[in-house]
Amino acid sequence: MKVDLISYTKGDFVSQEFMLDYIASQSRSLKPKLIEGLFERTVDWGHKSIQEFATCVFHVQEVSRSLLAQVTRHRHATFNVMSGRHVPTTKVVLPKGIECMEGKITLEDGAEVTWWTRKDGRLVIDILKDGESNEFAQGICEVPLEDIRYGFPIGSAVSFFLRINGSSLRNFLALRLDKHAQWEIRRLACCLYDLVDDVNPVMLKGLDDLREANYGSEGGPNP
Ligand SMILES: Cc1cc2nc3c(=O)[nH]c(=O)nc-3n(C[C@H](O)[C@H](O)[C@H](O)COP(=O)(O)OP(=O)(O)OC[C@H]3O[C@@H](n4cnc5c(N)ncnc54)[C@H](O)[C@@H]3O)c2cc1C
Repeated sequence: MKVDLISYTKGDFVSQEFMLDYIASQSRSLKPKLIEGLFERTVDWGHKSIQEFATCVFHVQEVSRSLLAQVTRHRHATFNVMSGRHVPTTKVVLPKGIECMEGKITLEDGAEVTWWTRKDGRLVIDILKDGESNEFAQGICEVPLEDIRYGFPIGSAVSFFLRINGSSLRNFLALRLDKHAQWEIRRLACCLYDLVDDVNPVMLKGLDDLREANYGSEGGPNP
């Protein structure tokens, strides 16, 4: 798994002058300075609409389709997933304890596509057609890759961009840093936490215990 923070809302943006003026214009006290550190207070108050103005964009690579299925359940995030229709998967995420996987896809014309993983998770695909063994490439058999890939494992690696606002990120982390979450998405949650912690820790207020509980576990820090 490789995760990068591509862009984020800088600093405690609600303490910037224009935001203070805006909020002060709606308050009775008209003392903008009294509400410095407002973002942190929104966490205590559950005032989520303010947290929604802070956003992060992450690039997530070398995670499984299994993880993708889980992460896209978070409806308040935006995703762009690298298409796998025309480019063969080259890597598989191997969970702890699994050394390799293999499979076979038999085509109507008698050709056979076999695949197996190397120890480092590299996926090798071979097609046996008319008695000849070939490295798999688009167009080598009649069935297109977008259908052949149905026979590859759910561990096949994908990459995607994830855009998420502060409120949804907090919801995601609260659910996915928890020990009941599956190990790969817990690891992703740890990576997102650590990247945001470096640039805007105020967004993570109150989630540190959950993050710390993952040290030394399968989730662990960004590998
Ligand atoms: C440990 C664990 C096990 C899980 N197991 C399963 C499982 O077995 N099967 C399964 O299907 N899913 C499972 N899930 C997924 C889970 O049910 C949620 O779909 C997922 O965590 C997304 O959470 P969310 O809805 O809070 O996030 P988001 O979709 O990002 O929504 C954020 C928040 O917005 C609000 N919201 C969003 N949409 C609506 C809406 N339509 N109506 C009302 N409020 C809304 C809710 O308050 C929600 O919490 C599991 C999750 C975890 C963490």
